[in-house]
Amino acid sequence: FIKTYSEEIHYGGKFRGILLVLRDVTNEVEVDRIKNELVSTISHELRTPLSSIYGFTELMIQRDLPANRQKKYLAAVHSETERLSLLINDFLDLQRMEANHQEYTFEPFDLIPMIKDLKQLHSLSSSAHDIQILSDVPVQIIQGDSKKIRQLFGNLINNAIKYSPAGGPIEIRLEEHHDRMTVAITDHGIGIPASAMSELFQKFYRVDNSDTRKIGGTGLGLSICREIARAHDGEIHVESIEGQGSTFTVELPLNPPPPL
Ligand code: ADP
Repeated sequence: FIKTYSEEIHYGGKFRGILLVLRDVTNEVEVDRIKNELVSTISHELRTPLSSIYGFTELMIQRDLPANRQKKYLAAVHSETERLSLLINDFLDLQRMEANHQEYTFEPFDLIPMIKDLKQLHSLSSSAHDIQILSDVPVQIIQGDSKKIRQLFGNLINNAIKYSPAGGPIEIRLEEHHDRMTVAITDHGIGIPASAMSELFQKFYRVDNSDTRKIGGTGLGLSICREIARAHDGEIHVESIEGQGSTFTVELPLNPPPPL
């Protein structure tokens, strides 16, 4: 995008020429476009839960409802409030990461107990899934921010559970390749259509079909995962077959501390 400015130059009463200034404003236009898109996405995402909270509370105020109906509406208000708070937290997290304002504390830690702990945590949930950890090595020391890495794997395991039928098996495979390690999380759930693959890590992107609409989510989890992986000089990839399952693979540099 080019902005132009022109002015005729007269000197001694005579036309002497034209001053022409061309300015490349591509960057400004792009920043404006992204800002507008963000504002409209956020207002849409906030408006949906807010309007259902408004609707349910209005019904409760205006009508004399039996206790069981009141409880049902309150439960809906509660879950929409939870969704809003999750959305705002995730969104602020992501903003900080993208603006490079997120502080990371790098330290060496063992990934295996962390993954085992996440498995334990998810095994306690109501629709327990069979989560298997397969690792070639007993200890896997990496250099990183353990809280953020936990958030990254927590998100991926959570998705594997969310998008698979109750009780479906999930495998977490840890492997070492030269100076990098990979963690692959495989589920046998609903999978991802090929047409969605290129947009999957975009902010707010959710595959739109009857399954995912029922499951719910903010569409921010994978963007957060990608930011965390990048901050660790790592990468995240996905392979999937719709209707069969997905594998999300995180690749991180192995950086063991020097021996004592
Ligand atoms: P959400 O909060 O919607 O789960 P994510 O950013 O974590 O947001 O994921 C984006 C979208 O990618 C999801 O809405 C879903 O459509 C798809 N997705 C993510 N993980 C999986 C998975 N393991 N199996 C199938 N689809 C998935």
